[in-house]
Amino acid sequence: MRNMARATHGLLQLTRAGRSRLVVGAALCALLWPSAAAGVAPFTDQDVVIVGAGAAGLYAAYTLENLGYDVLVVEARAEHGGRLGSVMLGDVRTENGAEELYGSVNNFVFDDIKALYGTSAQVRIYRGNATQDQLISMDGGNTCWSETGNCYLDDDIDDYWTFYNDVWNHDNDPTDQLVSTYLTNVWGVGPTHRAYHLYEAGAPAGEYGTTVERLGLRSLSREGNAWTLSSNLYGLAPVGYRDALDALYFNQVLPKVIYNSPITAIDTSGPKPVAIDGNGVYHYAQAIIVTVSVGVLQAEMIDFIPDLPGTKVAAYNTIGMGHGMKISLRFTSSFWNVSKMMDVLTEGPAAQCWNPGKYQPGTTSHVLTCFIMGRNSEFMEALPDDAARIAQVLSDLDLIFGGQASPAYAEGVVNNWTADAYIRGSYSFPAPGTRPGGTTMREILAQPVGASLYFAGEATHNTAPSTVPGALQSGERAGGEAHAQMGGPPAPGTPATDFSASAESGPSPLDVTFTDLSAPAATGWTWDFGDGQSSNAQNPTHQYAADGTYSVSLTASNGSGTHTRVLPMLITVPEASSAAMLAYGAIGLGLLGKRRMGRTGRKRR
Ligand SMILES: Cc1cc2nc3c(=O)[nH]c(=O)nc-3n(C[C@H](O)[C@H](O)[C@H](O)COP(=O)(O)OP(=O)(O)OC[C@H]3O[C@@H](n4cnc5c(N)ncnc54)[C@H](O)[C@@H]3O)c2cc1C
Repeated sequence: MRNMARATHGLLQLTRAGRSRLVVGAALCALLWPSAAAGVAPFTDQDVVIVGAGAAGLYAAYTLENLGYDVLVVEARAEHGGRLGSVMLGDVRTENGAEELYGSVNNFVFDDIKALYGTSAQVRIYRGNATQDQLISMDGGNTCWSETGNCYLDDDIDDYWTFYNDVWNHDNDPTDQLVSTYLTNVWGVGPTHRAYHLYEAGAPAGEYGTTVERLGLRSLSREGNAWTLSSNLYGLAPVGYRDALDALYFNQVLPKVIYNSPITAIDTSGPKPVAIDGNGVYHYAQAIIVTVSVGVLQAEMIDFIPDLPGTKVAAYNTIGMGHGMKISLRFTSSFWNVSKMMDVLTEGPAAQCWNPGKYQPGTTSHVLTCFIMGRNSEFMEALPDDAARIAQVLSDLDLIFGGQASPAYAEGVVNNWTADAYIRGSYSFPAPGTRPGGTTMREILAQPVGASLYFAGEATHNTAPSTVPGALQSGERAGGEAHAQMGGPPAPGTPATDFSASAESGPSPLDVTFTDLSAPAATGWTWDFGDGQSSNAQNPTHQYAADGTYSVSLTASNGSGTHTRVLPMLITVPEASSAAMLAYGAIGLGLLGKRRMGRTGRKRR
C-alpha cells in the first residue's frame, strides 16, 4: 500500500500564520501590552501525530505512512531510537540499551534482519555450552562454571535454578505476593543470604529490570506463561540494533521527526485533537498516538485534557518501571576466559557482565558490558559520578579476577536510563496487580481513549512486553487502530482548509470577519469561534464580547472529504484595563505620528 495517492492537504506546516492583520494593532500590542500574546501561535497540521520516536513510535509512523497518511513524530530528545543505540569501544560495538534479538517466533524483525544482512549477522548467545558458559561468583570471589563446571554442587546455586523454574507455577495463587516475600518465607532466601545476588542480578529480577522486592509472583508467572517470543537470543554482528531498524523501517520516516520537542499537553476536547510541545508549538491531527514509557506516564509529564480514564491511570501506575543502567568497559587485555565465558554473575552492583565480542567475530578489543538493574542500579545511581560507577564495576570484577580488571581498564561508557528524563527507567515489569484475572493492566494501557487518542509502547504489549519486538508490534497495532477509525487518508480533492481574520486583537466588542481560503474549494463550512459560538457561513463576521484569547477553527468539506484547521490563539481581546492602555497608547502613537508628520511634512501610511 506504500506510495498510495496522497491527499492534497495535511503535510506538516509549522507556521506563525502570516495572515492579514491590523498592523497598527499588532504594533501597539508589542509596544504597550507586552503580556498579550497577539497573533496565531505556531502550529503543525497533519493526519496523525505520534508522541515519541522510539521503536513503537517510529514503527507506528512507518505503518501509517505506508497506508498513505501524513504523520509527524514529535520527540522530546535530540535523537531517535529511545532505548536503542550503540557506541564503539575499540572495534567492539556496545549497545546502550536493547541488545538481544529474539528468535523468529512471532518476531518479524528477526526475519527482516536475516533477509537484509544474512544469516551470519545473527549469532546465538547464552547457549550454555563449552564456548558460552556463565561464571558464577560466590562468597567473595570464588567462582564456578554454570554449565560445564561444578556450580551444581553448590546447593544454594541449585536452589536458585530450581526457584527460577518454579516461578512459572503461580498463575493460580490466591494472592499476588511479592517475589521477595515468597523467596524469604518458602525458600529461606533474604538479602543477607549468600546467593541473594543471583536472584537480583540474574533471574528473575535482573531480567525484568527490577528487584525481587517489586515483582508480583502471580503476575510474573502469568506474564511468563503468556509470553510469545522465542527463548533463543541472538547478538547482531555487523551493525547496531538501531542501525538495523533504521535500514529496515525507520529511515523512511525520520524526515517526519521533530526533535527537542517534549509534549507537555494533549487536548482532545476541542474541534481537533492537539499535542502541545514545550516550545509552545501546537501539533494538530485527527489522531494522536502516545508511545512514551510507563515511567513518563507515571511522572505525569503530559497533561491530558480531558483527564485520562481512571482505569488507564490505574494501569500505568500498577505496571512497574524498573531502574536500569548499562556500563561497558574496554580493557587492554582479556583477563577472563575468552573462549569460554559468555557472562559472569558478580556479587556486587556490577551484577551481570557479558562479553559482546562473543557475537562479533573478528573483533580484537576486550570489552565487558555490565547489565545493572533494580537495587543494583539504585546503588549505582546514588554514587557521585560515572567515574565512581566505573570504579565500582572494576572493584567487583577485581574480586573475581584476582585484581586484574583495574590495571587493564582503558575506557568505559555509562548509560543510566533511569536518569534520562524522557525514559525514566529500564523497562516495564509485572508488579503486583499487573495481571489480575481477566483484562491485564497492559491491555488497559493499550486501549484507545475516544476516537482520537491511541497508546503504544513496550508496556502496552500483553505477550512480549519490555522488548523491541513488543514495542514495534505495539506501534503497528496502534497505527492499525487509528487507521480503522479514520478509514483511510484524506481523499484527493479534500479541501486543505485555511482562512484569514480581518483582526487578531482589539478591545471588546471586537468584530472580526473570517475569510475562507480553502482549496480545493469547499461546499460546507463549520466555524468554531472559540467562545462557544459557531457559524455555517462561508465568510462569517463574529463579534467577541468578552476579553480572552481564542483559538478559531474551520471545518471545510466538499464531495471529496472534510478537513479541520485550527489557528491556535488567533484572537486576543484584552481586559478592559489593558484595552484602556491600548486606547491611550493609540492616542500617544497618533500624537507621535502627527509630530513626525509635522517634521517631515509627509503623510504617514
Ligand atoms: C538497558 C536496556 C536493555 C534492554 N535490552 C533489551 C534487549 O536485549 N532486547 C529487547 O528486545 N529489548 C531490550 N530492552 C527493551 C527495549 O529497549 C524497549 O522495550 C524498547 O526499546 C522500548 O521502545 P518504546 O518505543 O516502547 O519506548 P522508548 O524507547 O522509551 O521510546 C519512547 C520515546 O518517547 C520519547 N518521549 C518521552 N516523553 C516524551 C514527551 N513528553 N514528548 C515527546 N517524546 C517523548 C522518548 O524520548 C523516547 O524516544 C532493553 C532496554 C534497556 C533500557
